[in-house]
Amino acid sequence: MTPMTSHLRNEIAMHGPLTVAAYMAAAMGHPEHGYYINRDPLGMTGDFVTSPEVSQMFGELIGLWCVAGWHQMGSPDTVRLVEMGPGRGTLMADALRAMTTAPECRAALDVHLVETSPTLSALQRKALDGISVAWHDALAEVPEGPLLLVTNELYDVLPIHQFIRTLQGWRERLVDTQSQGGFRFVLADQPTPALALLPDSLDGAPINSFAEMSAAAISLTHDIARRLVDHGGLALIIDYASDQGPLGDTFQAVRDHGNHHVLDDPGEADLSARVDFTTVARVARDGGAEVYGPVSQGEFLLALGIEARAAKLATGASAGQRQDIETALGRLIGSGEMGSLFKVLAIAAPGAPAPAGFEAAP
Ligand code: SAH
Repeated sequence: MTPMTSHLRNEIAMHGPLTVAAYMAAAMGHPEHGYYINRDPLGMTGDFVTSPEVSQMFGELIGLWCVAGWHQMGSPDTVRLVEMGPGRGTLMADALRAMTTAPECRAALDVHLVETSPTLSALQRKALDGISVAWHDALAEVPEGPLLLVTNELYDVLPIHQFIRTLQGWRERLVDTQSQGGFRFVLADQPTPALALLPDSLDGAPINSFAEMSAAAISLTHDIARRLVDHGGLALIIDYASDQGPLGDTFQAVRDHGNHHVLDDPGEADLSARVDFTTVARVARDGGAEVYGPVSQGEFLLALGIEARAAKLATGASAGQRQDIETALGRLIGSGEMGSLFKVLAIAAPGAPAPAGFEAAP
């Protein structure tokens, strides 16, 4: 039995079945045995590949998006450039390199990374060697001030609660132990506190429907919106999106680039859920911020000029490199690939104009 499995079995023995959110939070973030704590899960040798790891074009275009945002903010002397969940630091390294083409903007940036994994922070330090950067465990530790915040594939790892519609109304799905070892799902027979997260609009959902709500995503979005309302700026949230709002069972485990059962080998597989952008947008608007999108990642990158960037990179490249650029472009913008599965949402200070890439968004 792994240390994570015995930790979870002890928790359940002491306190009863865990919420899916508590199970996910422990499996991913337990300070000793959590999935992200001791490993680099990214890239071909890891469990999954993210957009910044597919091509430098992704981070570069986000860097240019930040430059445009800084101009829209009235070119403040200091702006907090914050990335949450920066992985290997690739996006930030590519973005900052692209931003050297705008030296006044670059000079205004105060760079902050929010990261909970010591293994990944060490890789970020390497990727950003020679650049002044501050690291934090939580957004609350980043000093207040005008903000440019970007985050790719962080929201999908924030713990979710799961619910199933029964004849008695919504009930929370819980994780219990199996007598022969391992874990199984059970249904709470009484209402649990997390039911308060469900919006009234789900009251009419058919019996046996699933729903998911992330208290962590709600609270993070609330903090981001509050900072934008108080100090100005923009936030860009990019993630694997749910297409049914909070409805559906999107809880998944990925290990070694393939699907894994969510209750098998906790701490050894990446657990995630598709992001419900309707709730993120609602919370940001309720907090007084302006919301743009979501638009598909493909639309967003095309609007930022990814095709011109790819053509520029291809100039002077070998035939093999040109093929690699073409393949990367297809993955980032293609439909049925990251281009349509991922969505991009911008949150802005009230009254701000549409950020770059969202001019055509509703
Ligand atoms: N953005 C990167 C990495 C995505 S993987 C990329 O696109 O390649 C998720 C990242 O979020 C990892 O760096 C992980 O360690 C970090 N992370 C997980 N939970 C977090 C939390 N609560 N706060 C900040 N970072 C977190």
